[in-house]
Amino acid sequence: MYLYNSATHKKAEFVTHTPGHVEMYTCGPTVYHFAHIGNLRSYIMEDVLEKTFRYEGYDVNRVMNITDVGHLSSDADTGEDKMLKGAKREHKTVMEIAQFYTDAFFEDCRKLNIKRPDIVQPATGCIDEYIKIVKKLEDTGYAYFAGGNVYFDTSRLDHYYVFNDHDEEDLAVGVREGVEEDTNKRNKNDFVLWFTKSKFENQALKWDSPWGVGYPGWHIECSGISMKYNGEYLDLHCGGIDNAFPHHTNEIAQSESYLGHTWCPQWFHVHHLNTSDGKMSKSKGEFLTVSLLEEKGYDPLVYRFFCLLSHYRKALVFTWENLDNAKIAYDKLIARIAALRPGDAQADESIVNCLKEKFRSSLDNDLNTSLAITTLYDVLKAKISDGAKLALLDDFDQVLGLSLLSHAAAKREENAKAASSANAGGFSITGEGDPSIDALVLARAQAKKEKNFAEADRIREELKNQGIEVTDVRGGAIWKRI
Ligand code: AMP
Ligand code: ZN
Repeated sequence: MYLYNSATHKKAEFVTHTPGHVEMYTCGPTVYHFAHIGNLRSYIMEDVLEKTFRYEGYDVNRVMNITDVGHLSSDADTGEDKMLKGAKREHKTVMEIAQFYTDAFFEDCRKLNIKRPDIVQPATGCIDEYIKIVKKLEDTGYAYFAGGNVYFDTSRLDHYYVFNDHDEEDLAVGVREGVEEDTNKRNKNDFVLWFTKSKFENQALKWDSPWGVGYPGWHIECSGISMKYNGEYLDLHCGGIDNAFPHHTNEIAQSESYLGHTWCPQWFHVHHLNTSDGKMSKSKGEFLTVSLLEEKGYDPLVYRFFCLLSHYRKALVFTWENLDNAKIAYDKLIARIAALRPGDAQADESIVNCLKEKFRSSLDNDLNTSLAITTLYDVLKAKISDGAKLALLDDFDQVLGLSLLSHAAAKREENAKAASSANAGGFSITGEGDPSIDALVLARAQAKKEKNFAEADRIREELKNQGIEVTDVRGGAIWKRI
């Protein structure tokens, strides 16, 4: 499998420390608000990556943190604590906010078919781990105590910027939000490992430490949690592109200084979902959530499909029109699958292997999900039985997570209901003896009867795509293949 590695700035063969096993870490959400659909783009693409590893036969241990402490409004350790901001906004405690938005995050993930990582660890649960790392960094001269906080000394490293092929603008976004100068730092890139004095008065969560009562910096949590659950050798670290700097850069600096060896050789960064006026972000006021998509009548899986149609290393622009186009394509795909008749899955092995090969090689080539999706259409067109097509689509959907078969079964049922209701009205069909087409023709008649002309037109279009022409006649319809 070939993946682009942001640390080497190259696409290279994916390798693991232990053959056949992947230790994978993902930066989790900061749970002070709902996740926006931009955040969820990152989690969708990481989910497809994890499922691709499993599909390829790897055994995977995937770990994710939940940021419930230490993430300040600027990624450069200044500004207000995001959790405290959420608590004030909603007149709740920090822990109530954390629980509520953690549950909301996993509910969004469930709706988007994003698998829960094997281990999910809130940052507040590993304080001893962080203290152990910070203490060693201080003892070995990588960290210093100033103005009540412990800082990492970046001047100790020969090589601090590892992801410097990224767009400067992207890198600066998080850092710019709420920037104030911290005069305790010896070097401009030094970052906080442990806070005591700074922002202390109104900090809700605090723990005893060798430097006094305080709380951890944001970056140390990911190093601590990963080392605890993934071990000292991490194979792949994932996150959104804005996390590359300073968050991931700082994670590498502190982890490798602590361990004394390479920590994580491969990095996977998902590029941003943008709106027409720039990066989607929570600080911009109103933002798009999965619930909002649902309120507007979109199945969350249409959003997943929309994300899979683009490559993870390209910025993706969200507009309602783009989402509508994805919805039309997804609905058509489901309708075509619904028209397949379940049955014998026996098929010419060479055709099946060729389709599987195309599917795997698309994903193995730096997770080309849009090419993998075109394989679904190749399956629909292939000269194999409907049963064999359904079996292949189900197999591919283990990775794509689009609920293809269950949605198609629901659609089939819906068509059958519409058909029987139209039939009850004495509607007669003259066709070529294909029950799945008869059902669609009846569903169209029923939609017309209910004055749902948009649905009737959609079904006519769907029939046309399948090469069927329908002519309405008194009391029924005639269809033929053209
Ligand atoms: P946060 O909850 O802010 O810690 O972010 C959670 C994840 O979403 C991180 O991996 C971010 O890098 C990622 N992220 C933030 N904004 C976007 C965006 N507009 N598009 C894609 N991913 C994003
Ligand atoms: Zn992280």
